[in-house]
Amino acid sequence: MKIDKEQLRKNLDEVIWNVEKARIAVSEHHIVKLVTVGKYTDLENIETLYTLGQRAFGENQVQQLEARSKALEALPLEWHFIGTLQKNKINKLIDTRPFLMQSIDSLDLALALNERLRAKERSMNCLLQINSACEASKSGVSSEEAIDVYQEILERCEQINLKGVMSIGAHTDEQSIVKESFETTHRLYESLQKDGATLCSMGMSGDYELAISCGSNLIRVGSALFK
Ligand SMILES: *Cc1c(COP(=O)(O)O)cnc(C)c1O
Repeated sequence: MKIDKEQLRKNLDEVIWNVEKARIAVSEHHIVKLVTVGKYTDLENIETLYTLGQRAFGENQVQQLEARSKALEALPLEWHFIGTLQKNKINKLIDTRPFLMQSIDSLDLALALNERLRAKERSMNCLLQINSACEASKSGVSSEEAIDVYQEILERCEQINLKGVMSIGAHTDEQSIVKESFETTHRLYESLQKDGATLCSMGMSGDYELAISCGSNLIRVGSALFK
């Protein structure tokens, strides 16, 4: 469904203003990147957001990422892959040349991706997804194994440029539990900075302000924009 441009402008302004307040409360120097997640919306709304100044877009399905990045290839957009990657979609993902693949959820996936990248003589910027809320329904490595897996990917996967971590906040209305899951991810991010981590991707429509207060510097927002 096409959303009116003025409505999208209002939604985007509201998110940007909330981000601004949350990041200033952390520090004037704390910069937060907004990736808008288009998975629930139509292509034309992504185009409208582009005309409103937004540049970074995320998709959770390879098929959709491929179709949309192709349809909008004339625009200077930055595409992020944020979904679960099935092994049979690895080649297709590589061919879409995403700006950042945020969802490496196991060493096994990293090794498989690395192998295909090597065969294609390509490299990819990636994040390690951490399941810091310990939820069975979520992908990602456990917080206990995150440091070891991160370092093993650095050592064994030369085609992967590991840039940091990504996590989805705990799925509950209990703010203290969501906060705890963000704090866990941020602690891991801090200890990985010596290994070159610069991105801590956490926060979605319902919890991006809380995520920023816990140190997130990349948020992925969908439904708050497309309403
Ligand atoms: C869908 C999705 C988002 C955006 O979710 P909203 O709650 O709509 O903002 C962020 N991150 C991931 C990994 C997603 O799949």
